[in-house]
Amino acid sequence: QSILSLRGVTKTYASGDLEVQALRGVDLDVPEGDLVAIMGPSGSGKSTLMHILGCLDVPTTGVYELGGVDVSDMGEAELAQVRNAKIGFVFQQFNLLASMTALRNVELPLVYAGVSRTERRERAAEALERVGLAARLDHLPSQLSGGQQQRVSVARALVTDPDLILADEPTGNLDSVATKDVLSLFDELHDAGRTVLLITHDPDIAEQAARVIHIKDGRLSEADRAVA
Ligand code: ADP
Ligand code: ADP
Repeated sequence: QSILSLRGVTKTYASGDLEVQALRGVDLDVPEGDLVAIMGPSGSGKSTLMHILGCLDVPTTGVYELGGVDVSDMGEAELAQVRNAKIGFVFQQFNLLASMTALRNVELPLVYAGVSRTERRERAAEALERVGLAARLDHLPSQLSGGQQQRVSVARALVTDPDLILADEPTGNLDSVATKDVLSLFDELHDAGRTVLLITHDPDIAEQAARVIHIKDGRLSEADRAVA
C-alpha cells in the first residue's frame, strides 16, 4: 500500500520569456514504512519535488496522491490542511523558535491542531522522550547542541503522528558526529514503522537509506540494489 504516489508529475516555472522545466514527468511510489533518500545535485529539481511532496506547491501537470487523497488540484487552504494533518517537516536550519523551550517548540503543531493544553504537554513530552531528550524539555534551543536541536525538530515532526516525515537536508548544518546521531534516529523511526523521505545532495547520507532514488534534470532514476 503506497502512502504516496506521483504519476507523470511535471513542474514548469515561467522565468521572463523562458520556461524552466524543473520536473519532467516524475513517477514515484513510496510504500508505507519505507525509508527513501532522494539524491541529486544542485539545480536537479530537489526543492521543487520536496515542495510538491510537502504540499507546499502543486504540479503543473500530473497527479500526486497522498494517503489515497488526490492533492494535485487543491487550492492553498485545502493544501495547508492536508500538510498540517499528514506531514511532519524536518529542515536543514531546524526552524525552532529561539524564545521557546524544547517542550513548547514541540507543542506548537498541536496548538495549530487545536489540541488541549494538558494533552499537548503530554504528547510533546512523549515525543521528546522518543528522540532521547527527556532530560531537556525545559532547555532553550541555544542551550542545546546542533544534533540535539535537530532531535527537537524531529520530535516536532512526530508529535502530530503524520503519515509522512519529510526531511530536507536534515544534516546539512551538523558535524559528522551529530550527522550520524540524527541519521540513526531516522533509522529508529523507520524500524518503528514510520515513512521517511530524506532529500539530500550528499551520497554518504543517501547510502544509509534502504532505497535511494536519484534525481537529475527533473527526472528520477532508481538503481537496483542487491537484497541483503
Ligand atoms: P535543487 O533543489 O535540486 O537545487 P530546484 O528545484 O531548486 O533544484 O530547481 C530546479 C530548476 O528549476 C533549476 O533550473 C532552477 O533554476 C529552476 N527553478 C526553481 N525555482 C524556480 C522559480 N521559482 N522560477 C524559475 N525557475 C526556478
Ligand atoms: P531551504 O530549502 O532554502 O533550505 P527550508 O528547508 O527552510 O529552506 O524550507 C523549505 C521550504 O519549506 C521553504 O519554501 C519554506 O518556506 C517552507 N517552510 C519552512 N518552514 C515551514 C513550515 N513550518 N511549514 C510549512 N512550510 C515551511
